[in-house]
Amino acid sequence: MTIEEYMSSHRYDDNINELKTYFDSVIDWISSTFIDVESEMKGLEWNRLYETYHLQGYSPTLIHNRVQALYADEYVKKRSGIFEYILGGEQDQRLLEIRIFEEPTKKAVYARQTEKAQKDGVSNCPLCACGSNTNRVKIWKYAEMDADHVTAWSKGGATDISNCEMLCKTHNRSKGNK
Ligand SMILES: [Zn+2]
Repeated sequence: MTIEEYMSSHRYDDNINELKTYFDSVIDWISSTFIDVESEMKGLEWNRLYETYHLQGYSPTLIHNRVQALYADEYVKKRSGIFEYILGGEQDQRLLEIRIFEEPTKKAVYARQTEKAQKDGVSNCPLCACGSNTNRVKIWKYAEMDADHVTAWSKGGATDISNCEMLCKTHNRSKGNK
């Protein structure tokens, strides 16, 4: 229901008790779910988060531990996304805008991989090189590849050159956010 629809259907009300009760429920849920009070909690869509998640049981202590860990994680660029990320079971990493590899890092890895692949007569995408189709020996252009975390961020992998490999776009997509 939109605000306009609510106002219209309640235009003859002589008090705001219903709204106040609802507002209190949202606030109560937030304060019983989150121990932490962070400035990034301001301005979040708490109404939507309440509607989506308030029937699920959460442990405030576990949530607190995860909030602290994610606040301490240098690769999390968008801290305001931490709360919804945790409520949603830590599935949607887009909410956190995990730091991506810098262009010079990607170019250095591309050059290293491509040189080695040409020497070995295989594709410069390590996953294509293991395959059995014609891409097995294909040398992809830089623009046809994307950087991938060898060890995923969610498993503690760093966003630096030691943890960067270039994959062809198809293989990078199929690896996804794992
Ligand atoms: Zn590939």
